[in-house]
Amino acid sequence: PPRIQILNGRFDSLTAEETVEAVVRAIRAGERGILSTVNVAVLMTMRSDPRLQRFVERSRWTVADGQPLVWASRLWRQPLPERVTGIDLIDLLCARAAREGIGVYCLGAEGATVRTVARVLQERHRGLALRGCADGYFGPEQAEARAKAVAESGAELLFVAMGVPRQESFIEEQWDRLGARVVIGVGGSFDVIAG
Ligand code: UDP
Repeated sequence: PPRIQILNGRFDSLTAEETVEAVVRAIRAGERGILSTVNVAVLMTMRSDPRLQRFVERSRWTVADGQPLVWASRLWRQPLPERVTGIDLIDLLCARAAREGIGVYCLGAEGATVRTVARVLQERHRGLALRGCADGYFGPEQAEARAKAVAESGAELLFVAMGVPRQESFIEEQWDRLGARVVIGVGGSFDVIAG
């Protein structure tokens, strides 16, 4: 599928459903990849943070997490089909994961919040293999242990909700230890899901 350049971002022209298909296909094929959900605020942060800019450019998938980006894309002959938010992806992917036995791990936000997220997701998606969850408040000396805990859980799909660019730094630094096939940075989504 085509990629569309908007400001300093290159976005995959994928619907939410197509994004889910691509992620599930990669997991089934035993491939690894990072998915970045990028909105206008993230584009601005990328401008002043070359490391974040590079991280997003190297992501296997980049989706437009906001309607303004979809509107902007209509200046092109093939506009983006729709916005794809972190919250949409969490829900659609957990539905698929529950049906197909894909293990999921949630990392980020405060302890009470991520535990609520884990409970909500398991209630919404019966049979979901939630392999574990952990808060996102830890120092650099604990990052390695957090990553190993994800790997030991056997999760294939990891959501990291620690805000931008904190989550990207963690994913980049711990990539070789995480074990999970597909890793998705979802910003502040856990706070929203927990209500
Ligand atoms: N967060 C985290 N670890 C931190 C700081 C923040 O897990 O060290 C979580 C926070 O609880 C929230 C999400 O990251 O769920 C986004 O945080 P915040 O709104 O502060 O960041 P922003 O989205 O403004 O970058």
